[in-house]
Amino acid sequence: MNPHDVVVVIGGGLAGSEAAWQLAQRGFKVRLYEMRPHRQTGAHLSDRLGELVCSNSLGSLLPDRATGVLQTEMQILGSLLIDIAYQVQVPAGGALAVDRDLFSQQVTAVIEAHPNIELIRQELTAVPHAPCIIATGPLTSPTLARELAKLTGQAYLYFYDALAPIVSYESINMDIAFRANRYGHGDDEMGVGDYINCPMDRQQYAQFVEALRTAETTALPAFEREEAKFFEGCMPIEQIAKRGEEALAFGPMRPVGISYPNSTKRPYAVVQLRQDNVAGTLYNLVGFQTNIRYGKQQEILQMIPGLEQAEFVRFGQMHRNTFINSPTLLTESLQFKAREDLYFAGQITGVEGYAGNIATGLLSGINLARFLSNEKPLILPRSTMLGALCHYITHCEPNHFQPMKANFGIIPEPDQPIKNKRQRYGYYAERSTRVLNDYLDIAQQHAVPIQSITVD
Ligand SMILES: Cc1cc2nc3c(=O)[nH]c(=O)nc-3n(C[C@H](O)[C@H](O)[C@H](O)COP(=O)(O)OP(=O)(O)OC[C@H]3O[C@@H](n4cnc5c(N)ncnc54)[C@H](O)[C@@H]3O)c2cc1C
Repeated sequence: MNPHDVVVVIGGGLAGSEAAWQLAQRGFKVRLYEMRPHRQTGAHLSDRLGELVCSNSLGSLLPDRATGVLQTEMQILGSLLIDIAYQVQVPAGGALAVDRDLFSQQVTAVIEAHPNIELIRQELTAVPHAPCIIATGPLTSPTLARELAKLTGQAYLYFYDALAPIVSYESINMDIAFRANRYGHGDDEMGVGDYINCPMDRQQYAQFVEALRTAETTALPAFEREEAKFFEGCMPIEQIAKRGEEALAFGPMRPVGISYPNSTKRPYAVVQLRQDNVAGTLYNLVGFQTNIRYGKQQEILQMIPGLEQAEFVRFGQMHRNTFINSPTLLTESLQFKAREDLYFAGQITGVEGYAGNIATGLLSGINLARFLSNEKPLILPRSTMLGALCHYITHCEPNHFQPMKANFGIIPEPDQPIKNKRQRYGYYAERSTRVLNDYLDIAQQHAVPIQSITVD
């Protein structure tokens, strides 16, 4: 292909913005189609590119945690969005949390200013004939989703994710709530943590759980109700509460590592709030995705000690999630098996989580550019987190395919077993960086036969 011909990226979310930028940086003219603001997804609130729809955290920053390893790999591969995330970081005790407004503002500004990118605010309802990356995310517009079902020859899959509520800081009663990080990790020199904790005693917890279990939720459309599936990591709190009396106390409300200020006494359960913007005026309820009706939601959440007068700037919501059957449809380079110049990226591939979705955007952008330049694709070693994710979504059992986020369970174990978990994770982190750097060195020297190279 002539480098001046046009490449299409559909979807200006996390994966699509990253993919468009990677292609544009390699000299390709990119048409980036984003349907907002003309057509909304139901979860996005703005018309900005790279908007974070729920939590403002891109996962652990620690180099020996799965998302930390992935973030390091993305830095090595030259990710735009990770770079921006570091620039607009907010304190979150060991996690890469960002000011969501500044983040999407900056992503939009960089993409709009790029001379090789034309941003077109339009819903695409068919897959174009030009070389293309589809990055339309979990809330792909229904018309395009139907087209994808035809293209893939399969009914598309879906399940449900839910958004956590956000409250204003000034409405939190800090006489009851207190600042602390779990186990004091990341506390400042005065011993003050980033998280705001709302503690509950046994009785308060029991009443709260009962209220959740009996709360009325927003009904799903009838045709979707039968098949509604929840992704474990985004399970609504009312669903967790229905699993058992103590399920929340062992889940998002677990009190481990948290004690009352100036005391060693631990609350029975705790609701943690994490800073949501740089100004520190907004906090989200960590792990508190919910689909309870708005009026009832406010009433129940105000039962939480410290949130009696809370002002909710966003209520929890629930949304459909669309993804293709990647094990049957994609190669590890994220290329569509039935059409060489078509790639997929982001949540629609079945990779879960902000960092993973940016990472697949990055890899698809690089690989489409390589394909159009007659170079073999990067197929990253499985001992890298991104390589492991791409391997997982393209090799797992197709009949039971469910989205997967970055985790050490999908990484090959060390040749010599390392019993100590910390040491093992440390080894994974060191190995991933070493192997990725070696792989990229070889890829640069041998642009063409890269597919046949294995480094590990
Ligand atoms: C409700 C919800 C909450 C989530 N919460 C979290 C969380 O807290 N943490 C986490 O790590 N992950 C979360 N996820 C999962 C996932 O990480 C995010 O959805 C992430 O934004 C996915 O990135 P993406 O680039 O694949 O899609 P998106 O960021 O959604 O981008 C897709 C873009 O494509 C556009 N689009 C769709 N169809 C068309 C079309 N036909 N033509 C043109 N444009 C189109 C959309 O408007 C959108 O801007 C959540 C997902 C959902 C649905």
